[in-house]
Amino acid sequence: MVTQFVRFAGCNLKCPGWPCDSQFAIDPKLFRKEQQLLTPADMANRIRGKMLDTGATNVCFTGGEPFLQVESDLLNLLDELDGEEFKYEVFTNGTMPIHEDFFDFDVHPVVDWKLPGSGEADYSQTRMDNVGMMTDYEKGCVKFTIAGEVDFRVARTVWSTYLRNTNLEVFAGAVWNKLDTRTLVGWIQDKRLPWRLNVQVHNYIYGAQTRGT
Ligand code: SF4
Repeated sequence: MVTQFVRFAGCNLKCPGWPCDSQFAIDPKLFRKEQQLLTPADMANRIRGKMLDTGATNVCFTGGEPFLQVESDLLNLLDELDGEEFKYEVFTNGTMPIHEDFFDFDVHPVVDWKLPGSGEADYSQTRMDNVGMMTDYEKGCVKFTIAGEVDFRVARTVWSTYLRNTNLEVFAGAVWNKLDTRTLVGWIQDKRLPWRLNVQVHNYIYGAQTRGT
């Protein structure tokens, strides 16, 4: 399945534990030089064109934090694209509320559940509410980005407390340059966790912080 990425600028978090892998999307000094303000209709047209060019059927909204955008604009964008039979993923840190209306579309939030290594709080009531709704609608998944043993331990606790008995898939990936993926795989195997491995393939192919990947 080919995916077309749509990147929104700005994030409500900072993740001081490591450099975000898209500094140009979260740092106003960088993104303000080239940001473009588009109406939902303009953006829908651009997305449609790109999807035709690439043969993509899956749109990934990412950032930054996509749910920082005006809620009605995001819903209008999906309305504009209605009838295209695209599938949508939204990469989110989960701390911005997701309106129930998003689930009227084929929208699958991928919630990055923060762990201590990120420097952000691992508990957010908003994230809990979002994950509850995703469970009800059976859409989306949760992702842990793991920097070391403490993160792995907290992720296991979060999973067994809140996620184990849901229908949501759980992914785990190693923080680039902080944890070896082979080590993480060993831990997952050792604890026999039903998690899927998430690998930052673009970093292996193009190198970290490379634009357009
Ligand atoms: S939540 Fe994601 S986009 Fe925002 S600062 Fe953290 S890593 Fe970067």
